[in-house]
Amino acid sequence: MIATGSSVGTVSFYLNGAWEKPEGRTMGAVRNPATGETIAEVPYATDADIDRAVRAAHEAFLKWRDVPVVDRVQVMYRYKVLLDKYSGDVAATLTRENGKTSDDAKAEVRRMIQMVEVACGMPSLMMGDSLNDVAQGIDCKTIRQPIGVCAGITPFNFPAMVPAWMYPFAIACGNTFVLKPSEKVPLTPTRAIELLHDAGLPPGVLNLVHGAKDTVNALLHHPLVKAVSFVGSTPIAKYIYATAAAEGKRVQALGGAKNHLVVMADADMPKTVEAIIGSAFGAAGERCLAGSVLVPVGDAAGPLLDLLVKRTQSLHVGDGSKSGVEMGPLVTGDHCAKVAGYVDKGVAEGATPLVDGRASRPAGGGFYLGPTIFDHVTPEMTIAKEEIFGPVLSVMRVETLDDAINLVNRSPFGNATAIFTSNGKAAREYSSRIEVGMVGVNVGVAAPMAFFPFAGWKNSFFGDLHAHGKDAVSFYTEQKVIMSRWF
Ligand code: NAD
Repeated sequence: MIATGSSVGTVSFYLNGAWEKPEGRTMGAVRNPATGETIAEVPYATDADIDRAVRAAHEAFLKWRDVPVVDRVQVMYRYKVLLDKYSGDVAATLTRENGKTSDDAKAEVRRMIQMVEVACGMPSLMMGDSLNDVAQGIDCKTIRQPIGVCAGITPFNFPAMVPAWMYPFAIACGNTFVLKPSEKVPLTPTRAIELLHDAGLPPGVLNLVHGAKDTVNALLHHPLVKAVSFVGSTPIAKYIYATAAAEGKRVQALGGAKNHLVVMADADMPKTVEAIIGSAFGAAGERCLAGSVLVPVGDAAGPLLDLLVKRTQSLHVGDGSKSGVEMGPLVTGDHCAKVAGYVDKGVAEGATPLVDGRASRPAGGGFYLGPTIFDHVTPEMTIAKEEIFGPVLSVMRVETLDDAINLVNRSPFGNATAIFTSNGKAAREYSSRIEVGMVGVNVGVAAPMAFFPFAGWKNSFFGDLHAHGKDAVSFYTEQKVIMSRWF
């Protein structure tokens, strides 16, 4: 946190269709991870701010739910056009506060826009079923109705895309929304919501607040909030799920990950290495789908690691806004120190560093750590068990596909995994037996597109209905069955 009244700008709340720069709130610092400089101050919403946001959303809901869905999606069509037009601007903001490279930022914004595109199809997606003459002269139909004020609480690593897993779907379904993005990266969601405002969204339908734990608690306990969507780390996801459910709210809470990449000896090694580099070190490893454990099977290890180590050593680490940079900094100084601490621990616990990222930090004030690969990692080591959320890849060698499946299925996490092979039978068996929510076959980052559902299993997800796709329509609506007979 920083003192109020510094020379950098204050991030605004967006309440009931108006932008507000609140005063006298606890303030957080937003930093450019490539330089360490403070670029904005973010105010933390109080209980009273949250009450105003939720009440504005509730008042707006009473009208918005009756706007025909074909008219509601007109806002989404206009929003999509504006996002396309200003996508470069949104991506540059994202790189500036999150650190990911320009290419990664542009790819994220593209994914965000796809969410809006899918939400434009809400007239079809919200349709119910009907059957006439379920009994003599009696017809039956199901309809889907919005549920009210929905809240979204999102993490730092995808500040454009992850909020868009939520609000375009919720709003197109006829709900209203209060978004509380990560306090580390509030500028990207603010820019995105400015464009939604310009698209003509009526006041109160979406409200943007900032803050941390206390702000989230005010949302979780507010009686007018009917549903909570959360994406973040596992301990917080568990807490959100338990707390909001105890308040009688509908909850989906996506948590952390420890993703295994299994490589068979028959894999196409050069292509596999490129996929692993993208998975483990893309976005500096700060992805919930990042590969963080590499599992070479049998003879795969030798040729795989030779190529992988060379390619990793050649990775260009630096300021993500500069061209040619392949990996940017970590999001904050604290997070960078935490990830470097895991590298220290890996060495102390006896893993073999093949590439040590502590030795390849670019000079300057940014939060940098180079890519790291550890070989001979064993299940009891900390780096094998905990989510690191940085550019650290642990190699755990196994003899057979069965061993690989057992290793992955013993993990308490179940977000994503991938198998690299040219053998269809091995791929099929792996996909079928693995206890993980999102599986890639020769795909290093198995990120489902907007029209498919997104979530893990086990400690990576708490809830029933996953993010985006048709699950989002079910999550953001209540189903009603109507039986009619006319005398
Ligand atoms: P985080 O859990 O620290 O924060 C997420 C959100 O929760 C933020 O908005 C934050 O303000 C809020 N928060 C933090 N502490 C809180 C508390 N004690 N009580 C209430 N709210 C609190 O996560 P992060 O560091 O921002 O993001 C990284 C994590 O998110 C990683 O674990 C990553 O795997 C996970 N993630 C998961 C997915 C997925 O799809 N499963 C996607 C993206 C990120």
